[in-house]
Amino acid sequence: MNFAFDNSFHRDMEGFYAHAEAAAPSAPSLLAFNHPLARRLGLDVADADDATLARLFSGQALPEGADPLAFAYAGHQFGHFSSQLGDGRALLLGEIIAPDGARFDVQLKGSGPTPFSRNGDGKAAIGPVLREYLVSEAMAALGVPTTRALAAVATGDRVQRERAHPGAVVTRIASSHIRVGTFQFFAAHFGAEHVIQLSDYTVRRHFPDLAGAANPHLALLERVVALQCELVASWLSLGFVHGVMNTDNVAVSGETIDYGPCAFMDRFAAETVFSSIDANGRYSYARQPQMMHWNMARFAEALLPAIHAVDPAGVEQAKARIDAIPALFRTAWLDRMRRKLGLGRADDGDGALVDGLFADLERLQVDFTGFFRALAALLRGDAGPIEALLPEPDAMAPWIAGWWQQLEREDVDPIERAAAMDGVNPLYIPRNHRVEEALVAAEAGDMAPFEALLEVVRHPFVARTDWAAYATPGPAEAAPYVTFCGT
Ligand code: AMP
Ligand code: MG
Repeated sequence: MNFAFDNSFHRDMEGFYAHAEAAAPSAPSLLAFNHPLARRLGLDVADADDATLARLFSGQALPEGADPLAFAYAGHQFGHFSSQLGDGRALLLGEIIAPDGARFDVQLKGSGPTPFSRNGDGKAAIGPVLREYLVSEAMAALGVPTTRALAAVATGDRVQRERAHPGAVVTRIASSHIRVGTFQFFAAHFGAEHVIQLSDYTVRRHFPDLAGAANPHLALLERVVALQCELVASWLSLGFVHGVMNTDNVAVSGETIDYGPCAFMDRFAAETVFSSIDANGRYSYARQPQMMHWNMARFAEALLPAIHAVDPAGVEQAKARIDAIPALFRTAWLDRMRRKLGLGRADDGDGALVDGLFADLERLQVDFTGFFRALAALLRGDAGPIEALLPEPDAMAPWIAGWWQQLEREDVDPIERAAAMDGVNPLYIPRNHRVEEALVAAEAGDMAPFEALLEVVRHPFVARTDWAAYATPGPAEAAPYVTFCGT
């Protein structure tokens, strides 16, 4: 098996990382391998058996051409700045170039300590590894920019958390691992020259069209802001709660990264928080746009030395870009909400319609994902699904009447409209009770529920009768669903 490595970060960015190595796992065995992703990356695994894959994607054997390294980064965690974070449990093997020319990082997560591990063990437990695998694959299938999982390998070692768990390593594929926190690290410890070097590298790698801009660092800020607005709008449109939007978990590529305590909500509640450590609801569902805004302000601060070096007037322009975020976000979000509701043209009434919808969904505790599919069914003349979601059949009658009114402004065939809605509103998401069931079984050695769920969430939009049970929310539980960071 050969990797087309071309390790540009290692080559061009000395001083921005630390050399590191994987710890040898005692008995690696393959839990999952992402063949569709391997094909997309141009990795030829036809001649590799499971044992070979397990050795390669646990760090036991180093592929030819790898230059393993740990990235340095800083970050605001729950609002507090840590100037020294870095990859404490992750190891970049290198970058590969896919057949279409796209460049990807190949990173092991959970492969042992690095110079940035501080007091951590550098390891990962099987549950969080498989959660990352499942949820990032679901996000990819939903069309959300995201890192992806190429492999999950059990190490054969135990990892001590609140109790001992089987250890595992996930191989993460990302268009890069450059984070807001990477910029913060070099702004905090070094200064303009390093920030400029990192910004130039980022532009070359991700946004070559910006290289000729009058102030490329300002252009980078503007582009990353636009990508984050789109990303968080897509999260909200799917009921996704990332859970730990610290600046070290914000990729400048605009990909969703760091699937720690993330989860999708079933019954709609704006203040939903799943993470055990998010006691104040900083990263609740509805606060995600504000937190994205806050994170982008931190990104602007880190870029300021570079922006200023090109043109002092750029500082004011950067401030204007940050101030524009709420309006930019609302536009991105309303666009998505309109598509979810089958509305084509923008109209002044859309905002009120959407606000009214969220108030009703919350008041009536409606299943968020199921609701939009039920609306499409209504367009096809079937009121059954929506009535099944509501406490009383006509509980949302006033809102539905308002929605009809907005629809009638456009002359579109209802069947076509319903099909378009079903193309953006998933039927299958990784429901919490299903994820939990899959992870518990996997920890006990049974991968079948994981494999079944993975197959379902890879096909989120097209209904299958044998998958009906995957489309329904879990039982309304006495205790809320709680997730943990501890990969
Ligand atoms: P996260 O909360 O996943 O974004 O991680 C925050 C920081 O803690 C990063 O620098 C991680 O590399 C580090 N970290 C988290 N878990 C571990 C661990 N088990 N061993 C070493 N470092 C860790
Ligand atoms: Mg992180």
